[in-house]
Amino acid sequence: MKLAYDISPSISEQLAVFPGDEPFTRIVHRDFASHSYQLSALRATLHLGAHVDAPCHYTKDGHSIEAVPLDYYFGLCQVIHLPVQRDTLQLTVADFVGTAITQPRVLIATHSFLDPNQWTDQFMALAPEVVHYLAEKKVCLIGIDTPSIDPATAKQLRAHEACATHNIAILEGIVLAHVPAGDYQLMALPLKIKDADASPVRAVLFEP
Ligand SMILES: [Zn+2]
Repeated sequence: MKLAYDISPSISEQLAVFPGDEPFTRIVHRDFASHSYQLSALRATLHLGAHVDAPCHYTKDGHSIEAVPLDYYFGLCQVIHLPVQRDTLQLTVADFVGTAITQPRVLIATHSFLDPNQWTDQFMALAPEVVHYLAEKKVCLIGIDTPSIDPATAKQLRAHEACATHNIAILEGIVLAHVPAGDYQLMALPLKIKDADASPVRAVLFEP
């Protein structure tokens, strides 16, 4: 397989996280000033940059990330560009008219969160009906180039809940502005973190 695109933002202390969530910090415990090696640790939200949500993030008895089948995160996908701006901050099914859904994983470029280091809550999310629509098309994973498939200010995570209903996996925080629409092989495996509600991933696209 030939690597086509890296769709992960760089993880650094500048990377934006939801207000109130834990930003990334890298703590250097040893360095070459006094040791013959370097050693560091990290502290951060698990919803960091490109990440996948576990069902236990949005449903009380949902699986944690180490229990989620890995098949979701590896395989054929389709990148689509829907640069729609709307006051409701939600894409609707009407926005998908004219775009044939032909792959089991759909990565949606909204172009509404273009700088991963600059927080804005004005990003586009998904109306729950979009999730139902993609479920009808046999989609098993939805990816988006924003921090969440629900609006930043949503009190209830209705798009996430719709994904739980249909057993659809969620990949958030990817960067897609540089990726042409089309078909690819996605690889975005989560870390095997026990009981965790999410995991950062290195999300990449290979030629199909
Ligand atoms: Zn999420």
